[in-house]
Amino acid sequence: MSQLVHRPRGTKDLAGDEARQWEKLEAACYAVFTRFGYEPIRTPVMEPYALFSRSVGEVTDIVQKEMYRFTDRSGDEIALRPEGTAGVVRAYLQNNLSQERPVRKLYYCGPMFRAERPQAGRLRQFHQIGAEVFGSASPYTDAETMAVLAEVLRAAGITRFRFEINNLGSAEDRAGFGKVLQEFFKGKESSLCEVCQTRLGKNVFRVLDCKNPGCRELVATAPLVSDHVSDASKADFAKVQTLLTDLKLDWSHNPHIVRGLDYYTHTVFEVKHSGLGAQDALGAGGRYDGLVQSLGGPSTPAVGFAVGVERLFLAAAAEAAEALQAGHAPAEAPRSGVTVAALGDDALRGAFTLTQELRLSGIVCQMDVDGRSLKAQMRQADRSRSRYAVILGSAELAKGAASVKDLSASDASQAEVPLAELKSFFQKNLS
Ligand code: AMP
Repeated sequence: MSQLVHRPRGTKDLAGDEARQWEKLEAACYAVFTRFGYEPIRTPVMEPYALFSRSVGEVTDIVQKEMYRFTDRSGDEIALRPEGTAGVVRAYLQNNLSQERPVRKLYYCGPMFRAERPQAGRLRQFHQIGAEVFGSASPYTDAETMAVLAEVLRAAGITRFRFEINNLGSAEDRAGFGKVLQEFFKGKESSLCEVCQTRLGKNVFRVLDCKNPGCRELVATAPLVSDHVSDASKADFAKVQTLLTDLKLDWSHNPHIVRGLDYYTHTVFEVKHSGLGAQDALGAGGRYDGLVQSLGGPSTPAVGFAVGVERLFLAAAAEAAEALQAGHAPAEAPRSGVTVAALGDDALRGAFTLTQELRLSGIVCQMDVDGRSLKAQMRQADRSRSRYAVILGSAELAKGAASVKDLSASDASQAEVPLAELKSFFQKNLS
């Protein structure tokens, strides 16, 4: 036998129930976005490398260590997208999306790629559902963005989440705060890791989210960005807080959130779940008022978020496990659709046409075409949780009627239904 080929480390296959659950979740999330007035957008998974070095930031872990980057056959520097925002901004500009309406609300879902060390909740190909709003600087838009995120989580079956928010101020505030930080770290360089010592000169903000224990200890005593922002930014941040309270969202101010990407300004947030262990972030986002301009567009305020789809499933599973422990058994999957079981060659041909007719009239219908025994076909009908089984043998064909078994009835009662009436029978009885 030839050797099996395995998928790359840190990637996942989705099949069967799991793949179905993904489809359901995506559809539920899209419905939420539509309710909130967002439109879909799809962008390529590969983009020019420069898009990410210019937006996410040259001195970030994502760009320096985690990006899949290659030179293609024509010599272009390409990267697999590590996040969704930069590509959406590029598409917004390249397709003049601001022309039709001053405020554009967009959502996306798709794979992202980061060459991280795989562990629970951390993959190399993972998926994000995200949203971006262009053209509104209002704190109402920040609050609405968090509100739609909360609904996306609820659509995924998650209830126990909380927001942590912070204020990073404007680009000017950040530049001023950068100087305050430089001053703070002066004379303390030896307490920082080697990477952070180089970050001091290039991008001092990235020292704030270094994972090294020594750096973290020092950072815990560093000045806080939200204390060094303009009065206008403070007022907007206070407004966001009021609105979140009005919307009854569970939030707290965490002055240590800085986000690992360079483009954020003003309000930033993370949404966390206690059932996720060390990787407790379901998603994150915030305002990025300078990014559109820095990628060659006009000055455009913007705000957005992304949640990790795999983490949504982990959090929903954690909540379901807790409910089970508390004695709430999960509901059995409801029965639906029809299995047509054929006995013998002649019946198989008739069953094949019947199945096609039922499918074309919108009924979910399956059949075995490999001539298995009636017992095996009924077992399959049960496994796939069909609501009805139609049994068709030569006797039934001759009579022009089929035996129909209701698999949800405790006595599995059987009725004879004329073939010509099967379609309307199922249309009436299957909701
Ligand atoms: P970020 O773009 O880093 O703010 O990530 C936003 C969300 O995407 C996180 O909160 C996670 O839910 C998810 N995420 C980020 N990186 C990974 C990864 N390597 N594997 C799985 N999920 C991830």
